[in-house]
Amino acid sequence: MTLAAVHQATSHLASCTTPASAGHPFHALQFDAGLLGRLGRSGPRYTSYPTADRFNGDFGYRDYLHAVADLRTRGGKQRPLSLYLHIPFCDTVCYYCACNKIVTRRRDKAATYLSYLKREIDMQSRLFAGTNEVTQLHLGGGTPTYLSDQQMGELMAHLRRGFRFAPDDMGEYAIEVDPRTVSIERVHSLRRQGFNRISLGVQDFDADVQRAVNRVQPENETRAIIDAARAAGFRSLSIDLIYGLPKQTPGTMLQTLDKVVSADPDRISVYHYAHMPRLFKPQRRIRQEDMPDSETKLRMLQLCIERLGAAGYVYIGMDHFAKPDDDLAVAQRQGRLHRNFQGYSTHADTDLVACGVSSIGAVGATYSQNVKTLEEYYDMIDQNELPVQRGVRLSMDDAVRRTIIGQLMCQFELSIPAIEQAFPIVFDKYFADELARLRPMEADGMIQIGPDWLSVSMKGRLLIRNVCMVFDRYLAQNDAPRHSQTL
Ligand code: SF4
Repeated sequence: MTLAAVHQATSHLASCTTPASAGHPFHALQFDAGLLGRLGRSGPRYTSYPTADRFNGDFGYRDYLHAVADLRTRGGKQRPLSLYLHIPFCDTVCYYCACNKIVTRRRDKAATYLSYLKREIDMQSRLFAGTNEVTQLHLGGGTPTYLSDQQMGELMAHLRRGFRFAPDDMGEYAIEVDPRTVSIERVHSLRRQGFNRISLGVQDFDADVQRAVNRVQPENETRAIIDAARAAGFRSLSIDLIYGLPKQTPGTMLQTLDKVVSADPDRISVYHYAHMPRLFKPQRRIRQEDMPDSETKLRMLQLCIERLGAAGYVYIGMDHFAKPDDDLAVAQRQGRLHRNFQGYSTHADTDLVACGVSSIGAVGATYSQNVKTLEEYYDMIDQNELPVQRGVRLSMDDAVRRTIIGQLMCQFELSIPAIEQAFPIVFDKYFADELARLRPMEADGMIQIGPDWLSVSMKGRLLIRNVCMVFDRYLAQNDAPRHSQTL
């Protein structure tokens, strides 16, 4: 099978499987503290497979060009495009942060960065000229709203000159917003500039917790931004929370959850804070004595699940909850949910074009990542080269495992005949070792393995990463903790 065929096979798979549990009550998630305490370990978030830490420096600019050329010569129906732009700047540092960002108040740095980003957009738009339209856009960071209103308007106009966008009601155009950086007028302006989904970083409403992580964000101001997003007509409003932060207790968590529920967002993400001060410098400013212990963290997770479930939110997977009529929940029930670098998505397999320092793209059967420092980024663009630093071209084995992990992360079930139809393998033979390693999870009631389906039970869903990790060929090769805790 050629790599182009791998793509056709995996795209077909996404539409040909009917989950056995379609229509099941996803909110009936079971919280088993004993199991979670015993099995919670460090693991990837599987926004890609192979995961980004497996990309290698042998893959560069020319390999990326080949991947695009493969797409263009493949014929048949082109896949839609997804765009990701990375804006790395932040005003101040949040102590829990593990992102790739540049903390500065020098706004001229953003102007220089934007001029290079536009040049990269020009190069990419020339490469993809005449291919399919953009159905997804995501601005992430750092803090995308570090850019001024005018800079953002110019950037969006520049993008529209280079790429053809699907109409507003057909596309998903999202921006991550730090409520501390925007006014009510700015929120309305973002909607006019073409964004229709907004994701607000809240993390926690408690003032002590906010001080302990250096992210003071008064509740009334955040509420005003949420109300403005509704009034401006954003199709979807998402709020990000974190559990496991310093000074958090079950009591503060419950108060924050009540406030979030009363704000009525369409989606809520509850991320686990992974305290790894040796890897992430800002985290060294968090006082160890302020950290909740593992038992308290599990209790807070349980509160999140119970409170959000009681408020009618359904569990999508990983850290995500959504209202039952939200696009994500509907897509999951219909078996057409996808996962990419921005998390869960309703958009079918797209080719992801990523621009900006450290951003990650996924084109054809490849992943590629840009250089991580501004100096390297500017230098490569000055040489008229796309700033690709590393990546990976998927093997057949990678492709089949990527499909399996994607299905499990999105649907919690895997159709074995569909995998055998899409790839030239006999599942039981090819994955004999993996099936043996899954048996203890079956004994724990986390999964059921039948002749045609592998299903993750309501008890196993919070540990979905553990199930996926069994299919990750690279994990066995390096056991050092490179990833956050699965809980
Ligand atoms: S959490 Fe977000 S806003 Fe805070 S420092 Fe990190 S990237 Fe910047």
